[in-house]
Amino acid sequence: MDRLQLIWADGTTAVVPALWLRDNCPCSHCKVVATSERRKLIATEPLELAPVSVVTDTSGVTVDWGNHVSHYTLDWYRAIQLDTRRHLATPSLWGPDFTLPRFRYSELDESVPGGRQRLIEFLSAFTSHGVACVSGVPIYQGESERFVSRWAPIRELPFGRVHDVLVDPMGYNIAHTAEALPPHTDFPSYKWPPSGQALHMLINEVVGGDSFVVDGWRVASELDRSELDILASFPVPFRQFDHGAETWTMAPLLRLRPDGSIEQLRFSNQLMQPIDPATTGIDRFYEAYHHLSTLLLAPEQQHRFRMQPGDLLVVHGHRVLHGRTAYEASTGHRHLQDVYFEFEDLFNQLHRLSSIPARAPV
Ligand SMILES: [Zn+2]
Repeated sequence: MDRLQLIWADGTTAVVPALWLRDNCPCSHCKVVATSERRKLIATEPLELAPVSVVTDTSGVTVDWGNHVSHYTLDWYRAIQLDTRRHLATPSLWGPDFTLPRFRYSELDESVPGGRQRLIEFLSAFTSHGVACVSGVPIYQGESERFVSRWAPIRELPFGRVHDVLVDPMGYNIAHTAEALPPHTDFPSYKWPPSGQALHMLINEVVGGDSFVVDGWRVASELDRSELDILASFPVPFRQFDHGAETWTMAPLLRLRPDGSIEQLRFSNQLMQPIDPATTGIDRFYEAYHHLSTLLLAPEQQHRFRMQPGDLLVVHGHRVLHGRTAYEASTGHRHLQDVYFEFEDLFNQLHRLSSIPARAPV
C-alpha cells in the first residue's frame, strides 16, 4: 500500500497510508460536517490508491486524488492525534495506603462558581483511581439514581433499578444478610458486567459493617504472564438469580490489552459456579485463581474505611473490588442503596467538560 509523507508549513510531518488519508478527507462531500460522521466509503477506492499530486502551502496540505481534491490542515491532524490518544490515559494504581479521593456533594454543581472545575477534579479522580467518595449527599431514598443520572444513564437490571442493600430474608444474595462480604465485583453473571456503580449510605448505626475497596488491576498485575493468560482465556460460569430473575454467563475472569495490562476483571467468590472438572486446563486455572484469590483477600491489600450516612462511593466495576466486614444486626439499622451505570459515560463526560476539542475544525 502506498504511503505518503505530509509536511505542513511549520515543519510538522506525518507518514500515513494513502488509504488512511483518503478515508479521512474532512471535506463536506466526504463527511457529514455537522455530526462529524463519515460519508465516504473506502471500498469505492482501489487498494493501490495513489495521489496525482501533493502540495503544501501555509493553509495546509492539498492532495489531488484524480477524481477528488482533499485539503488537510494542521489543526485537523492535531485534533486526530488528541482524539486517538484519549483512551490511553494511564490509570493510577493504588494499594492499601491509598487516600480515598473525597468530594462534597454541594461543590459538584456546574452552576456554582468553581463547580465545573471541581466536577472535572471529581471525574478525573474517579476515572484514574477507579473509586471516589462524595459526602453530604442528601439522605433520601433514590438519591444515588438522581446523582448518577446527571452524567450517565442508569443501567437497570432484572432485580431493579435502585437496589436496596439491607438485611432482607427475601434477598437474592449474601449482601442482604449481616455476613461479611469478601471483595468482589458486581454482576459477573453478565458477559459485560456493569462497569460503574454508585453506593449511597443512608443509615449506618450498626457495630461492624466497615467498608473496603481493593484495586483489582494493581493486585492482578502481581501475577506472572502465564497466570494472566490462563485467567484471560479460561471461561468461568457465574450466576445470580431470584424468584423472578435469572442472570448467567460464562466468561474469563480477566480481559487483557495487547500489552498484557488488565482491562477488565470479574471476581465474585459468592457467584462463581462450579466449573466442569473435565475442562482442559482446569488445574492451571485453579493454580492461578488460587494465587489471585490469596492476593485479593489479604487484608493488607484492602483500603478500609467506614461509610457515614450521606456518603456515596463511585466504583469502577471492572477494576475495583468492594466489600464489607460482618456486622451485628441487633445493634441498629444499616441501609445502603446502589445503582449501576457505564464507566465510559463518566469518562466521556470528563472529556466533554475538559473542553478538549472533540473534532477537527474543517
Ligand atoms: Zn473529500
